[in-house]
Amino acid sequence: MTYRAIAIDGPSGAGKSTLARRLAQELGFLYVDTGAIYRAVGLAALRRGLSPGDEAAVLAMLPSLRVATAYAEDRLQHMYLDGEDVTEAIRLHQVSDAASQVSAIPGVRDHLLALQRRFAQENDVIMDGRDIGTVVLPQADVKIFLTARPETRARRRFDELTARGQPADYQQVLRDVEERDYRDSHRASAPLRQAEDAVLVDTTQLSLEESLARLYEVVKERLKL
Ligand code: C5P
Repeated sequence: MTYRAIAIDGPSGAGKSTLARRLAQELGFLYVDTGAIYRAVGLAALRRGLSPGDEAAVLAMLPSLRVATAYAEDRLQHMYLDGEDVTEAIRLHQVSDAASQVSAIPGVRDHLLALQRRFAQENDVIMDGRDIGTVVLPQADVKIFLTARPETRARRRFDELTARGQPADYQQVLRDVEERDYRDSHRASAPLRQAEDAVLVDTTQLSLEESLARLYEVVKERLKL
């Protein structure tokens, strides 16, 4: 049996996870948030007192690390680190930066590749990340590159953090977004870039519902639904 795959890539704050989750519900596909997997590794580095950019130390940690995902009955993705549910902990602001740093290490990316691909071998998936259409699932049936202006993405991230009760400063969030964009798109290994066969969707001027409608249109056309 062959499964269908939808790859959504783009910078942080473009709306990937919210939109992918909604689309997955509508289509009955499994939603795979690959950023959460990198976040779990970033969190592990911080908890072990490592600098997330220290390649040798992070690589030495990998063999002893147990990173796993499990789906609750509501089909929501939970992340486990060494048996502990870290679904909430990986959302902390400092973990975003750690995730971005560990994800620039080629050995980390190689280590996590099989785990990500396995989801698509066993399910219809909507997978979001930075390199899904280019590296993880280059044969995906639908590829979307989702983006928005940095200021819009920073505003969304700021609103998300404050809604979660985490103190945030908009200017700082904007600087972090820009720094992460730069690092994600300039790293040597699997940088963030639009796959040649991906459809570009810019959500700067679109509401959530409008963005969802646009994605649904693209998916319907490509999957011939
Ligand atoms: O998507 P999210 O912001 O949760 O991802 C956290 C970090 O993980 C990103 O900034 C990026 O550096 C990294 N990442 C990646 N490749 C992916 C998904 C996330 O490098 N497929």
